[in-house]
Amino acid sequence: MIEMPNGIAPDQCLIGGQWRPPTGGEYLDLLNPSDGSTLCAIARGTSADVDAAVGSAKAALNGDWGATTAVERGRILTKISQHVLKHVDLLATLEAQDVGKPLTQARNDAIALARYLEFYGGAADKVHGQTIPYMEGYTVYTLREPHGVTGHIVPWNYPMQIIGRSVGAALAMGNACVLKPAEEACLTALAFAEIARDAGLPDGALNVVSGLGAEAGAALSTHKDVHHISFTGSVGVGKLIQKAAAENIVPVTLELGGKSPQVVFADADLDAALPFLVNAGIQNAGQTCSASSRILVQDSLLDEVTTRMTEAYGALIAAPALEDKHVGPLVSHRQKAIVNRFLERGADLTIAAQGVISDSAPDTGAYVAPTLFADVAPDHSLAQDEIFGPVQVIIPFKDENEAIAIANGTDYGLVASCWSRDGARLMRMAKKLRAGQVFVNNYGAGGGVELPFGGSGHSGHGREKGFEALFGFSTVKTVATYHG
Ligand code: NAP
Ligand code: MG
Repeated sequence: MIEMPNGIAPDQCLIGGQWRPPTGGEYLDLLNPSDGSTLCAIARGTSADVDAAVGSAKAALNGDWGATTAVERGRILTKISQHVLKHVDLLATLEAQDVGKPLTQARNDAIALARYLEFYGGAADKVHGQTIPYMEGYTVYTLREPHGVTGHIVPWNYPMQIIGRSVGAALAMGNACVLKPAEEACLTALAFAEIARDAGLPDGALNVVSGLGAEAGAALSTHKDVHHISFTGSVGVGKLIQKAAAENIVPVTLELGGKSPQVVFADADLDAALPFLVNAGIQNAGQTCSASSRILVQDSLLDEVTTRMTEAYGALIAAPALEDKHVGPLVSHRQKAIVNRFLERGADLTIAAQGVISDSAPDTGAYVAPTLFADVAPDHSLAQDEIFGPVQVIIPFKDENEAIAIANGTDYGLVASCWSRDGARLMRMAKKLRAGQVFVNNYGAGGGVELPFGGSGHSGHGREKGFEALFGFSTVKTVATYHG
């Protein structure tokens, strides 16, 4: 049994402040990947539901929500943040059951959701235009304005964090949102929408339509009245979204995957690095866009890093999400099959170490043992392709130039880190690494909501998180007045 805020049924869409059944009358089963059972049914939203959601967002912009001042929007977001904090345990339990994420990690996501809303609540009235010195007789200023209706297409791996960073920033700037969560994990999106509604978010400012990507997602990304699309997910679907945005000439933010490296030089503080080397690969069972799936190690330290990571892997346990061990199941049997195919591709490689799948993990769950491959060539598929599972490869390098060439030698460019005690080298590396975020002697920096995030290359474009997102979720109008 699942518990939703205010006892709402999870098989409905939120449109114009009302929970409604899907117009097509069809439903999808939601899997609990820890044991393979069905958690509940969700609505299979149709293009008619998306159309109604976009219509209600437009109505909100022309109504109460559109008339809300920046300071009022900030207060509403702050209040929603406080309500989210009251529901942290409920949200964490939902996410753990739905995504298969260990409970502590799910709880951190719920707290991060509240923190995004706190941050964007505080920032809403601090984004402003400029006055521009211009020709004699003119006064010129700029206005920061919302795009209008924003579409948010969210994946299953971090629903709460991704909703916080994209919907939070979009609402702060006065947009009205239509959210399409992933069919594989959408309970916290629905729960959050109810918490926000209950906290006083005006009707229509946030609408949620669950359903299939190819149906509800495609309807949202191609809708003529959507003025900005924020997409987080795979490269393949990202291309479809960008094409749809091109057809309607609307801006799009794409947060796609990664193959993010940690570069460990011989002079690194290995005691400090070790927990980051491993955790960054296995957090959320490796189903993290910014997972560190490649560990680049300078030759002279290779044996020691391999030995110590092998020891750390020996202690890793994969178990049902509510048991709250290091790793849960993958989100689905489909994702497990994808990861297993990658492991088969690694048959020519040396497995340095594997974690264990707990005896308590049912065979019907979607478990994969965390796996570490040693001494992998940089052009091997496992060192090039995003796996999205608890799998890491160790790649040796000789010197700084080779480290840069390998680190930058994939299609992706999301995040990267570098470990060394040589300050000048660290500064050179930070400049040369192709990534939207570079971490120096750490990895992830605690995931701070303040820190702009996004990629280059196949990792996507545009920036979310931090103040930067507020510029992405708004546009500039220049007002030039001639007064003589
Ligand atoms: P996905 O298949 O691309 O799905 C992402 C979202 O797009 C889901 O809501 C999905 O709906 C929807 N969708 C699917 N087909 C669509 C279509 N034709 N039109 C519009 N929307 C569509 O990705 P995923 O399997 O959920 O997530 C894994 C991938 O996402 C990985 O490659 C990962 O790296 C990437 N990712 C990146 C980030 C980042 O911040 N850079 C974060 C998380 C994930 P359904 O699921 O309902 O089909
Ligand atoms: Mg699920």
